[in-house]
Amino acid sequence: MVFTRRVLTRTYTDYTRYRPFLRQDFLYRCAYCLRHEYFLGGEAGCVIDHHRPQGGSYARPDLICVYENLYWCCNECNSIKGDTWPSSAEYTAARRFLDPCQAEDDHDLHYRVELGGSLTSLTTVGSYTIENLILWREQLVYHRANMIRWQQQYEELLRLREQYELTESAHEQTQARLSELASWIEPPVFNRPRR
Ligand SMILES: [Zn+2]
Repeated sequence: MVFTRRVLTRTYTDYTRYRPFLRQDFLYRCAYCLRHEYFLGGEAGCVIDHHRPQGGSYARPDLICVYENLYWCCNECNSIKGDTWPSSAEYTAARRFLDPCQAEDDHDLHYRVELGGSLTSLTTVGSYTIENLILWREQLVYHRANMIRWQQQYEELLRLREQYELTESAHEQTQARLSELASWIEPPVFNRPRR
């Protein structure tokens, strides 16, 4: 998955002001593990990640409020990533995080999602990212396996509906299940209540 950023017509000195734009540009998903906010307790399950970290040995304080350095990210990935950043030698050797805002860093180009939800790295960037974001953590494997299963069930039901003449009640049940599966594959968005 690759995310496309809007071109903003104004800048802010408080990076949290970019929050609504980031949510939309990242399609309400964590830039790294790709889980939708819906599965993370809603908007509050995500934070703004500084791709080039704010602290640590490779801190880039000059990028703290630069929109292109901000990524919508789940609390877990953000906390695991922390101030981790590769040295210049590592970066040159492609030991770096994938950047999901660049077409050449589409997740699918760097690792393969297996049917059971595990990941197989295809590149050095893929293995660095999997390793340093712990993308092999159990709940992510479980989540990815579910997503694959729901997608397969959705396609199978569509195929059955096309192939067979369904009774009215079977048709209704199929429709209900298709709607349910669709809402998990592309979940609804809920905004946090504002006071
Ligand atoms: Zn995440």
